[in-house]
Amino acid sequence: MNRFAVIGNPINHSLSPMIHNEFSKEFNIKISYEKMLSPIGEFALTAEKFIQNGGSGFNITLPFKIDAYSFSEELTSNAKAAGAVNTIKIENNVIFGENTDGTGLVNDLEKNLNQSLTDKEILIIGAGGATQGILKPILEKNPEKILLANRTLKKSLKLANDFSKFGKVCGFGLDQIKSKPVDIVINATSASIDGEMPNLPGGLCEGALCYDLMYGIETPFMKWAHDNSAKMVSDGLGMLVEQAALSFNYWLGKKPNTSSIISLIRETVD
Ligand code: NDP
Repeated sequence: MNRFAVIGNPINHSLSPMIHNEFSKEFNIKISYEKMLSPIGEFALTAEKFIQNGGSGFNITLPFKIDAYSFSEELTSNAKAAGAVNTIKIENNVIFGENTDGTGLVNDLEKNLNQSLTDKEILIIGAGGATQGILKPILEKNPEKILLANRTLKKSLKLANDFSKFGKVCGFGLDQIKSKPVDIVINATSASIDGEMPNLPGGLCEGALCYDLMYGIETPFMKWAHDNSAKMVSDGLGMLVEQAALSFNYWLGKKPNTSSIISLIRETVD
């Protein structure tokens, strides 16, 4: 039986075991998938122990995605661009690192929410690890441009510079955002975790699709979007399931049907 896990700290809240168990039922495959709490600073030790005990792959969540990048011996192009790894597989004793977050988001937007990214003006708020993962897959869909705004200006300027080889992306400070509507607003800050909302002008989201990477509850960003005439508002639960499906496929070569699982998980978290 294939043995998988998700490593993080904290890890109790993780929905990954439930999602992967649902995927395995669809294909009638027996897997084990466990939550592993790693002490901070001991990711490599935790991961090595899991591999020695027969682990064939694992997911990596906060705060270890950068450690997982350094731990990988071979990297996919998405992982390389992101500088972070959320999926590891062991094959012929080699540690392969992949990042499925960005393509997970793109799949949720395109397949589940029926939204094209091509020729769209997209504002991304936040320039942390999640933004590093989503920039390349979004730019590969040929948006008109990405406006990347962050509280700490130098981080958005650096990311805009690093990713400009994949498409048009401009860095800003949060205070430089204009009140003019864009097509898509993505909240990739961690503000929602603290029940906070970045300070944004309301006119921005009129008629726009507003997407919060955070999932589970109506976040302050989602409320702001509803209050300011967004066309469509979504949390990041679909992204969570889509990135998991890509990991499952990376490990086992099988593409799960995600829409039924999204509905099932939605009933659990709401
Ligand atoms: P990081 O800690 O790497 O980055 C946090 C970002 O949020 C920084 O840009 C930071 O700005 C900004 N920020 C934090 N608080 C505020 C605030 N009050 N106002 C304005 N900006 C703020 O986090 P990640 O990038 O890893 O994660 C971001 C979010 O994405 C989290 O909510 C996470 O749960 C979610 N996520 C969801 C996934 C899914 O599958 N749905 C997958 C991955 C992530 P500054 O640089 O100025 O500090």
